[in-house]
Amino acid sequence: MKLTLQELTDAMNRFVAAMGWYDETSAFAQSPRNIATSLALEAAEVLEHYQWGDEADPAALAEELADVALYLLQLAYLTDIDLEQAILDKLTVNYRRFGSGDPPPTL
Ligand SMILES: [Mg+2]
Repeated sequence: MKLTLQELTDAMNRFVAAMGWYDETSAFAQSPRNIATSLALEAAEVLEHYQWGDEADPAALAEELADVALYLLQLAYLTDIDLEQAILDKLTVNYRRFGSGDPPPTL
């Protein structure tokens, strides 16, 4: 099953809502600051898989990457950022900064 970023964001929001974490009384306030903190912590957990070697267990790594992706989607949602457009814009910037100019039309 392949989903778009929007569909994945919707699925993430359904999960967070089902857990009651969007409720005002939740002990896990889903504020942008809290989610940004969680994103950074999960990114560090990715690095943990390479702490003592160059190989990571693929299943364990996939789980951590999913944690990062879910928080990334949520932070974009909470801050009204169109993540798909932001990624495309940043790739364009990177082509111009590190490449030979404008990105290819197939970007
Ligand atoms: Mg994790």
